[in-house]
Amino acid sequence: MKVGVIGGGITGLSCAYYLGKAGVDATVFDPAPGGPIGTVIIEGCILETGPESWLAAKPWAEQLIRELGLGDQLTGSNDAKRRTYVLRGGRFVTLPDGLQMVAPTKVMPVIESSLFGWGTKIRMGLEIFRNPKTLPDRSVAEFVADHFGPEAVDYLAEPLLAGVYGGSPDDLSAPSVLPKFVEYEQKYGSVVVGTMRDKRKPTGRSIFMSLKQGVGTLIDALLERVQVVRNRVDAVEAAESGWNIRIKGQSHHFDQVVLACGSNGAAKLLSPVDAELAGLLGEIPYTGSSIWTFGYKRTDVHHPLDAFGFLVPKPERGAIMACTWLGSKWLGRVPDDKAVFRCFSTDVDVTREAAQSELHRLLRISGEPIFAVNHRWPDSMPQYTVGHSVRVAEIEARVAEIQGLYLAGNAYNGIGIPDCVKSAMAAADAIRASVV
Ligand SMILES: Cc1cc2nc3c(=O)[nH]c(=O)nc-3n(C[C@H](O)[C@H](O)[C@H](O)COP(=O)(O)OP(=O)(O)OC[C@H]3O[C@@H](n4cnc5c(N)ncnc54)[C@H](O)[C@@H]3O)c2cc1C
Repeated sequence: MKVGVIGGGITGLSCAYYLGKAGVDATVFDPAPGGPIGTVIIEGCILETGPESWLAAKPWAEQLIRELGLGDQLTGSNDAKRRTYVLRGGRFVTLPDGLQMVAPTKVMPVIESSLFGWGTKIRMGLEIFRNPKTLPDRSVAEFVADHFGPEAVDYLAEPLLAGVYGGSPDDLSAPSVLPKFVEYEQKYGSVVVGTMRDKRKPTGRSIFMSLKQGVGTLIDALLERVQVVRNRVDAVEAAESGWNIRIKGQSHHFDQVVLACGSNGAAKLLSPVDAELAGLLGEIPYTGSSIWTFGYKRTDVHHPLDAFGFLVPKPERGAIMACTWLGSKWLGRVPDDKAVFRCFSTDVDVTREAAQSELHRLLRISGEPIFAVNHRWPDSMPQYTVGHSVRVAEIEARVAEIQGLYLAGNAYNGIGIPDCVKSAMAAADAIRASVV
């Protein structure tokens, strides 16, 4: 059996890997495999073009990495410096210890914090008295404001989610983006109570995991094991039996096809095959992102760099939404005599001048950068907006009716690297099951 995989980001590559492992002949098509994932080394600094880590609590990426023989390359973040600053009133304020996303699990750090006023602190304390409720899908902003007040939306939910989803809490769906919290609301009424009850014993492991030589090494290892054709697919057509993939006027026949090219890519390819399905896929909006990475002589940066970095909430925002201090967050990635800053924005056109001048002001930087690199990712971040779970259920039901067609990737049931690997495993399993 031959399977064509359209899209060679982490999803498509890992799907082809698992298919190959099961003895299925799989070919990936992508003009630029890896998607946003890639590593570059400049002046001895290990830099990422896109993602720099993943959540350790989700096991699927790590499982794949170990299978690929890269287990000894796994590394956790430098949790001795695990602290995040939030810009408030032009000053860095520490994100209170014990916060799990928007839920406080420790009293004193919240009371002592200058990130919130007393109104929000009191609301956080009283939140434990809520009664269980099941509410319809609603935005993250509505959900968080309901539980903790509007200040928690502006100074917690917005900057935290903007960096992960590249979207606004006014649009993102609470059940899709914060499913555990919605479950706690239904079960206990209170998100704080649910979080405290579910609190896991400290494992001693870092929250974030990565690879010592960069996340790009995962893509390199997959590319060594998977057949890749570096071309864009122009069309997908149902054949009498199976599917034809068209590239530059040439047709390639496959028994089954996996679309791992984003819901936006899948919508375009499927519109002649099933217009209704393409319409549903096209309803998942996308945003883009840009990362400016600046390197400096350490002596030119007059800040202790005693944290993983900072977040900039919308009321305070200029050109930078979030900034990671690479040498503080990861050991072994930045030589001691340098400081490297990774500045994230959902404005793909943010200029070097704007990002650099903001960075210089906030971190009291006196010299010019040794290097500055930009990686732009337009239309790369699917938005799980209100109604997402219903939309995905409809998409899945429709795809299930089409023989030999599968969808996988970050647009459906999870955006992080581990979720992408999980969806790739599921597609490979379904294909394997279809031939037994
Ligand atoms: C800047 C940035 C930072 C991120 N940071 C993190 C992080 O720190 N941790 C984390 O877990 N996640 C992070 N993510 C999310 C994560 O990286 C993505 O969700 C994941 O890489 C998506 O993988 P994918 O294979 O589903 O899609 P993609 O990587 O988008 O791959 C889709 C591929 O399809 C190809 N394609 C499209 N159309 C066609 C066609 N017609 N023919 C052939 N190929 C086609 C494209 O070229 C692309 O390579 C980040 C994302 C971005 C953009």
